[in-house]
Amino acid sequence: MANRPPRDASTAEVLEQFRRRKALRGRLKIAAAIIALVFFLAAAAAAAVVSLREPSQTAPSTPPGTSLVAAGVTTTTVSLPAPSTHTLPPRPSTVETTDTTSATTTPTTTPTTVAANSGWVVVIDPGHQRRGNYAEEPIGPGSATTKAKVSSGTAGVATGVPESELVLAVGLMLRDALQAKGVTVIMTRTTQDVDLSNIERTRIANEAKADLYIRVHADGAENGAARGIHVLYPAVTRGWTDDIAAPSKRAAQLAQSALIAATGAQDRGIDARSDMTGFNWSDVPVIIPEIGFMSNPDEDRLLATSSYRQKIADALAEAAVQFLKEQG
Ligand SMILES: [Zn+2]
Repeated sequence: MANRPPRDASTAEVLEQFRRRKALRGRLKIAAAIIALVFFLAAAAAAAVVSLREPSQTAPSTPPGTSLVAAGVTTTTVSLPAPSTHTLPPRPSTVETTDTTSATTTPTTTPTTVAANSGWVVVIDPGHQRRGNYAEEPIGPGSATTKAKVSSGTAGVATGVPESELVLAVGLMLRDALQAKGVTVIMTRTTQDVDLSNIERTRIANEAKADLYIRVHADGAENGAARGIHVLYPAVTRGWTDDIAAPSKRAAQLAQSALIAATGAQDRGIDARSDMTGFNWSDVPVIIPEIGFMSNPDEDRLLATSSYRQKIADALAEAAVQFLKEQG
């Protein structure tokens, strides 16, 4: 009906915290810009004074032909450093951290780890929920084609673990791994008992202006021998996904190779999809890692172990950060 289903309480809280931090970050950026401007003007004034005084001091000891060069060298060494060290790097922004000295003195010497609070936002959507909601919603903005708002997903053929439970556990591990790398993470859900349609989940990612939106799922198939990992990304659909398809594909490639390297699972490649509601409504780069086949008894049992789940989460975190760095 017209009433919106209640959002996961902790998701709402995280979104609220995120909005507050974003507002604070905006104010800090303005303050930093003013400080940078003051430093720049001071440095420019100092340079002007030096360049005015310098020729008269050097002229007596140097031949007339070289005095201009000497003055030029002096002005450049005085005027340049100040603005460059106080100008904000475009992204990742380090304004919010208190450790501004190390951030400004070593801007390019952090190849493997991201500075605390990188400014990047990743939204994680653990697929499904305890009980599906089979009311329908359009698969894309303005579409007459509809699909169930959210299904309950598959379940482990050997363990009986529901997909919604598996992907929630992996999603929470992924959240922790990304936060450890300084990435801001927003979860669409942190419990099984929510009622969130695929459109509503994607709206959370859109509202957060996520740099990457990761929707964690697992597969089920009729053929119990089917196994392995693949990553889905949006196909190009004009007006829906044409703006996010290319970066999403890149994120899918990075995630797929990291997942296969970490787990040794069968490599099923990456797949462009035009039928996913959560892709077609997205305004941000989005992928669905399908982390294994719960219909395969061996893979199901493997997916039930925390060590294998951790490998998947760590691989996804690594791939996500690589993607964020590439996108700048
Ligand atoms: Zn699923």
